Parts: sequence; structure tokens; C-alpha cells
Amino acid sequence: MTREDFRDRHLERIAQVRAGRQGEKVAYPIRIRQAEVVRTAPVGTGLLRVTLGGPGTAGFEAHSPDEHVKLLFPEPDGTLRLPEPNGLVLNWPRPSPTSREYTVRRYDPATGEIDIDVAPHEGGLASAWAERARPGDVIHVAGPPGGLIVPHSYDRYLLAGDITALPALARWLEELPATARGWAFVEVADATQQIPLTAPAGIEVHWLHRGERPPGTGDALARAVTAVTVPPGERLYLWAAGEAGQIKPLRRWARDVLGLDRADHDITGYWKRGVADFDDDH
Ligand SMILES: Cc1cc2nc3c(=O)[nH]c(=O)nc-3n(C[C@H](O)[C@H](O)[C@H](O)COP(=O)(O)OP(=O)(O)OC[C@H]3O[C@@H](n4cnc5c(N)ncnc54)[C@H](O)[C@@H]3O)c2cc1C
Repeated sequence: MTREDFRDRHLERIAQVRAGRQGEKVAYPIRIRQAEVVRTAPVGTGLLRVTLGGPGTAGFEAHSPDEHVKLLFPEPDGTLRLPEPNGLVLNWPRPSPTSREYTVRRYDPATGEIDIDVAPHEGGLASAWAERARPGDVIHVAGPPGGLIVPHSYDRYLLAGDITALPALARWLEELPATARGWAFVEVADATQQIPLTAPAGIEVHWLHRGERPPGTGDALARAVTAVTVPPGERLYLWAAGEAGQIKPLRRWARDVLGLDRADHDITGYWKRGVADFDDDH
């Protein structure tokens, strides 16, 4: 079977899941690419958009709002260790190379451009890279390994997250059908971090202001989300991402209060206070 046959299979599976009743993570053929920084630009005061391009981004695939890539960085001794392509997968060296995960905010097949929106913060490797990034800088990008495909047939969608989840949440809102109904909650520091969103009219968007508190602290997001009342008998899809401790209460709420099936929600810790290169393996 050729690579193209496998590719068709994966697109077929995406179409099947979209036409079905429940969400599913679908694996894509995964590649490692050498990309170049094309430009950077602020998106509100809380995100820095790094646009990647160059010949290496041709044929990139984007199918789902929360799909992510790994940005690969040199080791402290300056060496760059990259995964080896092996058919439709990558063979990763051990120990794993230094990398960080970022949402694919936008991919434009016409220009080959990929937008990554980075939330700058103190003491972060990827954050510092984004702040220093200049046109022509080279970065290696692995993935996306796959994406969460969610049918558009749910009665309501409940989306929640902090600034690190905002790129995915913005894509969610853009990609849902115009008839979709539900709620979106985004925790930001203040109004300067709010960004224009293109959302279906039936989705209420709520910005929660954290104020002076450091990112990843407080329970405002979980309190706002768990105050939502889902009309009885309606099918809900719940998606949440952000600081691991802040979104943790949502897991129990989804299971014990809403009684959601595993395939009807996705809650992911995108980072954890005090932990570098956090990996959510809940
Ligand atoms: C699937 C997925 C998609 C993601 N998409 C995005 C995205 O689109 N945009 C985005 O900005 N992030 C995103 N993240 C989160 C991002 O990967 C982490 O924030 C990552 O830790 C940043 O790496 P770093 O090298 O800057 O910091 P690290 O070296 O990993 O961490 C250094 C210190 O900074 C703290 N820290 C990490 N992130 C933050 C933060 N945002 N604010 C305050 N302190 C922080 C850590 O707790 C640690 O103490 C995503 C994560 C996942 C798993």
C-alpha cells in the first residue's frame, strides 16, 4: 500500500467521524519539517503570532481546531537532535529532543504559511524563542500527529480555556457551523488580552478577567464553566484546555455532574505552574 493510500484512509476516517455522533482523535501521517520564520506580530497583548513558512511547510495538513505541532529546539550543548522519518510516522531519539507543543492557529495551503500564537511568559524556552524570532530564523516542526475530530451534530458546545487555549478556541469558533449553539469562556489578564473572535451567533462568548493574579491561579474559569446549565435532553460537547490545576475540577464535573461519555468531552492540561515542558498524561 502506498503512502497516498494511507493518506486517503486518514482523510476518510476524518470524514466518517465528522459525519458520526461522537468525537474521536484521528492520527495523521506525521512529518518533520524545516520551517522559517516569516514574520511576528502581536495578537492583543497576550499573544505573539509567529508565522512560519518556506519550502519546508508545503503539504502541511490541518483538519481540526486543537491540533498541535512540536517545535524542536537545540539541546543546551547546541546540538539539534531530530526525529527520523519512517514511512507515515517518526522515530524519536531517546531521550526525547527538547520540544514544546503549540496549536496550529492557521494553515494557508496557498502560501504554505502556518501561524503559531505564543503566550509570552517569564522563564520559558519557547516563549523566549518567540520573543527573539526574526524573519529567516530556522525552526524544526514535527506534526501534527493527529487531531480531535468532533461532529457538528451536538446540540451545544461548551469551550473553555486560558490564553494558551485561545488559539485553539478561536479556531473552534471559526470552524463550527453558523448554526452552532453553546458557550465559550476565556480567562485572560484583562481586556487588552481580548482578541476579535469570529463566532456563531448562538455561542455566547465570555471573557473572564484575572486581574493582578498570576496566570494559572484562581478558580474563576472553573466556577464560570460549572455554572452553565445544559438544557435537559440536549447533547453537549465539552472542550477545555489551560493550566492543569485550573481545569482539573472540570474533569470531575464532566463525569459526575454532566455524566458525559469519554467521547463527548476533551479536557487537556496545556501547561502546569512551576513545571517546564509539562506533559499531560491524565
Ligand atoms: C496540545 C497543546 C497545545 C498548546 N498550544 C499552545 C498555544 O497555542 N499557545 C501557547 O502559548 N501555549 C500553548 N500550549 C502550552 C505550551 O506548550 C506551554 O505553555 C509550554 O510550557 C511553553 O513552553 P516554554 O518553553 O515557554 O515554557 P517551559 O520551559 O515549558 O516552562 C517554564 C516555566 O514557565 C511556566 N509556564 C509555561 N507556560 C506558561 C504560560 N503560558 N504562562 C505562564 N507560565 C508558564 C511553567 O510552569 C514553568 O514554570 C499548548 C500545549 C499543548 C499540550
